[in-house]
Amino acid sequence: MIYFVGAGSGAPDLITVRGARLLGEADVIVYAGSLVNPALLAYKKADCTVYDSAKMTLEEVIAVMAPAARAGQTVVRLHTGDPCVYGAHREQMDALDKLGLPYEVCPGVSSFCGAAAALKAEYTLPNVSQTVILTRMEGRTPVPEKEKIESLAAHGATMVLFLSAGMLEELSARLIAGGYAPETPAAIVYKATWPDEKVVRTTVAELPAAAAREGVTKTALITVGGFLGGGYERSCLYDPAFTTGFREASR
Ligand code: SAH
Repeated sequence: MIYFVGAGSGAPDLITVRGARLLGEADVIVYAGSLVNPALLAYKKADCTVYDSAKMTLEEVIAVMAPAARAGQTVVRLHTGDPCVYGAHREQMDALDKLGLPYEVCPGVSSFCGAAAALKAEYTLPNVSQTVILTRMEGRTPVPEKEKIESLAAHGATMVLFLSAGMLEELSARLIAGGYAPETPAAIVYKATWPDEKVVRTTVAELPAAAAREGVTKTALITVGGFLGGGYERSCLYDPAFTTGFREASR
């Protein structure tokens, strides 16, 4: 069987219990060496063969996984965070479907969750934003025109930007052009949950200067929005005056 496993955002003990068990059972591990913490390989058994997908093409990854799975071995494809965002995951599943090889997916802690933990923040605050937009600047991978930064920024919602830390001059300008006030709070979270994690709190206008000062160009998320500020309303769920399916209002 082939298992796609989310490694979590960095700290090796942030993998799920299931993910750690699968790593321990694996005969073959293909891991994304560019972003997965190598400390996770401590979970593997001694006679496991390990490949770093950072140096491989999709075809080479499949060429390693398919014969091992056919021979009855357990294969783990270890992805950074959760494979469901920017994981190049679908193309691997489609290739395995074509070969008639079964697989399962074990989720992981995405870096956008790791970043919220590092910030000690809640993305969805009543009366601030009830929406989280996960997106990126276009790089060599294009972003559809209808999802351009300016139109997403127009919502004024919480925004988390992947794969964009090296383009902050342009990002900052486009966020402001889209409608965020220049002084909207923003944060750069570098290597969330890794030992060398760094959190830089700033504003949308100051993003490029803050990143330059801290020397951050990659492996970082940019978070933007009022959730990083002070004001919000408390929840209805835990309000004494509010009746829920589980609790009568007390006044
Ligand atoms: N599937 C991954 C994302 C892969 S795309 C996930 O769920 O997190 C790679 C991008 O993710 C990086 O360029 C960076 O923007 C972000 N990233 C991954 N790990 C990170 C971490 N520990 N801290 C901050 N950003 C991270």
